[in-house]
Amino acid sequence: MAIMDNCDFAPSHVRGIAPYQPGKPIAELAREMDLLECDIVKLASNENPLGASPRALAAIENVLMEVARYPDGSGFTLKAALAQKHGVEMNQIVLGNGSNDVLELAARAFLTPQTSAVYSQYAFAVYPLATQAAGARGIEAPASNFGHDPEALLAAIARDSDTPTRILFIANPNNPTGTLLEPDRLLGLLERMPGNVLAVLDEAYTEYLPEALRSDSVGWLKRFPNLIVTRTFSKAYGLAGLRVGYALTSPQVADMMNRVRQPFNVNAFAQAAAVAAMEDIAFLNECLEINRAGMAQLTAGFERLGLGYIPSSGNFVALRVGDAAAINRSLLAQGVIVRPIANYGMPEHLRVSVGLEGENKVFLQALERALEELKE
Ligand SMILES: *Cc1c(COP(=O)(O)O)cnc(C)c1O
Repeated sequence: MAIMDNCDFAPSHVRGIAPYQPGKPIAELAREMDLLECDIVKLASNENPLGASPRALAAIENVLMEVARYPDGSGFTLKAALAQKHGVEMNQIVLGNGSNDVLELAARAFLTPQTSAVYSQYAFAVYPLATQAAGARGIEAPASNFGHDPEALLAAIARDSDTPTRILFIANPNNPTGTLLEPDRLLGLLERMPGNVLAVLDEAYTEYLPEALRSDSVGWLKRFPNLIVTRTFSKAYGLAGLRVGYALTSPQVADMMNRVRQPFNVNAFAQAAAVAAMEDIAFLNECLEINRAGMAQLTAGFERLGLGYIPSSGNFVALRVGDAAAINRSLLAQGVIVRPIANYGMPEHLRVSVGLEGENKVFLQALERALEELKE
């Protein structure tokens, strides 16, 4: 039997998946453009430009000798630290191989081909992917000013339908737009949505928010048993390469998600590093400060170049450059990697992650040159 016949047996919802498009790896661009890796500036995946806390790195070294052993499948130490930090019980926590993993666990535990999930236009690409992989129907609600529109999301929830909505995905702040639903508007959305729909509140960038704009999402868990809050160590904590994130929810929902979880989904290095990273508040604060300064540097640069951008609450910003594909080609030729977001329906925008001062400067200079080239 030919291999193609086997693939024909994959369900149509699997065959129809358009793969996630990651940022271009530095090594790949170096090969393509014959550049040195050290000369390339990558601001494409919202990674932490300061790297990881030295304490997290030391924790990884301590685990190296244990590499032949399976990690703790229950993640006891990490869960205990998270329970302490957030004031929740350990049975309310689901650990993931990145928070991407917990988004998938939610989809796999609660979605079927007879159900649907709602998410916003321009919302994080993993929501439609996870929905489709579960065979469920994805419903996109229109955005307002590139941000989540609570009214539109509520209206999109399928109630009396063949495919009732089971999950509403909310990214706050959202990637790739950087838009934020302020705490009162977000709370209003949770209060008004049906209790039989799970709200997956993805807070991958919450650390970057000033106190006044941060929702008491974890406190809301007491009021909303249908709430799932997801967090990650990939962004502000600088552990993207290790893959570790988590969900906080009711013990009942956590139990369901844990049933579809691989027994050893979070590796030993990730568990140890996450605990250490959480303790290094000084490093975290330094990262947030660098981000604030870098964001100001970038947006000042955009204004000088006469470019519009979407005000962002994350560690990245979407700027409007016109022919983004052409600008991106020029940036790549100059050794600068950012993220085109045409796949999000934003062909005139590029998303750039906030880097160190020198990286931002290289990017802005390359951008200016790209804009000039395009004029010629
Ligand atoms: C980066 C990101 C994540 C998660 O990334 P992980 O590395 O899988 O933890 C989740 N949601 C959004 C909106 C993101 O931008």
